[in-house]
Amino acid sequence: MEPLRTCIVCRRVMPKKDMLRICKSSDGAVKPDYERRLPGRGAYICADCKCAERLSKSHALDRAFKMQVDSEIYERIAMALEGNNGTAGY
Ligand SMILES: [Zn+2]
Repeated sequence: MEPLRTCIVCRRVMPKKDMLRICKSSDGAVKPDYERRLPGRGAYICADCKCAERLSKSHALDRAFKMQVDSEIYERIAMALEGNNGTAGY
């Protein structure tokens, strides 16, 4: 069985490998984790540009990490997902 994760935006359950991991490290830095191996708390978003768009509007990361996440970080993640063209093959 592949590990499954829930997208924090649309709540779809998908294989981990098809998703972008977003990591919150112990110092509170939030960043896209392309290799999916950074230490810290992770949130997953599916590689779908609709979710990238909705992410910043819904502030789903704020809820996932229980903190206020900079709009700059949302932009960076949206760009990471858009540049990715719908697939997770980084
Ligand atoms: Zn999604």
